[in-house]
Amino acid sequence: MSEPVELMDVDQALEQFDPAFGIEVHVELNTKTKMFCGCPTEFGAEPNTQVCPVCLGLPGALPVVNAKAIESAIRLGLALNCSIAPRSRFARKNYFYPDLAKDYQISQYDEPIAFDGYLDVELDDGTVVRVAIERAHMEEDAGKNVHVGGATGRIQGAEYSLVDYNRGGIPLVEIVTRTVEGMGERTAEVARAYVATVRDLAKALGISDVRMEEGSLRADVNLSLRAKAADGEDQHAVPLGKRSETKNVNSLRAVERSIRHEIGRQAALLAAGGAVTQETRHWHEDTSMTTPGRSKEEAEDYRYFPEPDLLPVAPSKEWIEELRGTLPESPALRRHRLQESWGYTDLEMRDAVNADALELIEATVAAGASAASARKWWMGELARTANNDGVELADLAATPAQVAELQGLVDSGRVNDQLARQVLEGVLAGEGSPGEVVAARGLEVVSDDGALLAAIDEALAAQPDVAAKIRDGKVQAAGAIVGAVMKATRGQADAARVRELVLTKFGLEG
Ligand code: ZN
Ligand code: MN
Repeated sequence: MSEPVELMDVDQALEQFDPAFGIEVHVELNTKTKMFCGCPTEFGAEPNTQVCPVCLGLPGALPVVNAKAIESAIRLGLALNCSIAPRSRFARKNYFYPDLAKDYQISQYDEPIAFDGYLDVELDDGTVVRVAIERAHMEEDAGKNVHVGGATGRIQGAEYSLVDYNRGGIPLVEIVTRTVEGMGERTAEVARAYVATVRDLAKALGISDVRMEEGSLRADVNLSLRAKAADGEDQHAVPLGKRSETKNVNSLRAVERSIRHEIGRQAALLAAGGAVTQETRHWHEDTSMTTPGRSKEEAEDYRYFPEPDLLPVAPSKEWIEELRGTLPESPALRRHRLQESWGYTDLEMRDAVNADALELIEATVAAGASAASARKWWMGELARTANNDGVELADLAATPAQVAELQGLVDSGRVNDQLARQVLEGVLAGEGSPGEVVAARGLEVVSDDGALLAAIDEALAAQPDVAAKIRDGKVQAAGAIVGAVMKATRGQADAARVRELVLTKFGLEG
């Protein structure tokens, strides 16, 4: 198989081709136990410590469905505007791979639990695109191959490989879109926004951790191209090209970039008279490229058949309606409601969304801070710290309640802006609440006029020329004295009060 070295420029590719994409998102559910056994599901445990005969597929072990997983799948299906099947079945999807101890995956095939839905996806400029959902079905996750000894952690160059079955049997919902076409130059943006919206929805439902970097939300992206019809030719008569499926695209940015890459790659192939191979491909974050995986199986290759060890899932109408009543406000509606009540500009809101700060700001406001001050801290000092440390905002040591308390100290004049930043430093270093840091570090503003006047006298004595200028009525010269007092008090004076005292001393007005 020949891989083109040159990619076609995406803009040029879009002049000649219309891209079409489809996305499969695997959402790992956050149930306490696995899909068909009682093993725990915690992330990061020692390898192969969360396994049992059922999830290892030992002979004679019998699976039992996790009711909580069914509930989560139904709620997700409802939130995706799907119909919920009154009766759906599990099926065995047979294939051999080391991470699959049973040699089959329990999934759903011809009878998914949820089908025929849609998701409205809002782009950055406010445009709403409706993405049709073909189905959302339940299945179990596979284990994880760990390749040891290579530089990249991939199988190429590894000395040996190990298998960790802890993840095997964790419940997943796989959401499959219908083909999305006609998005032109916004194709990659729509795909990214779709995955982000699914993530936000699953998070709002509370059914998943949705951490893409930990693999609890994974996207596989199909892409194909259709040549643009020549003048007078019917566009619908032009067939859609073969598609590639890029697996495990593990960040929103990677969704966008892998699509752009595939558009450029397929366009170059087609324009050179070649053909696109129907295959899976792997996305490489380091090189921003995809490389071929295996040629794509057709469904019949999996020899699906109904899982004989499990009863069909038949949720009652009453239960489905009860679950419908538990659906949260949609992420888009919530964003609009919060923006309105906070008075943020579109840009401020977008920044907060992109920084995953909405919940933090909401909690900070609930703890008593104004929306503007909550934004100032989370999108300013705290965002810088998170960025420098390479962590998420939510993982910082400062809580919304502490940020609100800190702002309260500023508002009451107990600390000024400069001191507040030092207080925050202490909070982030784990020294306690803002009040505790102020007490321990002695950071309170010096509000005792006697102490300030003493410091002013000292500063005037040290700069007699400045003192003379102020005496002559040069009000601006007072700045030098204020600066000296702030320095002498290590920033703990109220600068406005110092200035007032200096001017009063010389019988001047500000
Ligand atoms: Zn188990
Ligand atoms: Mn799947």
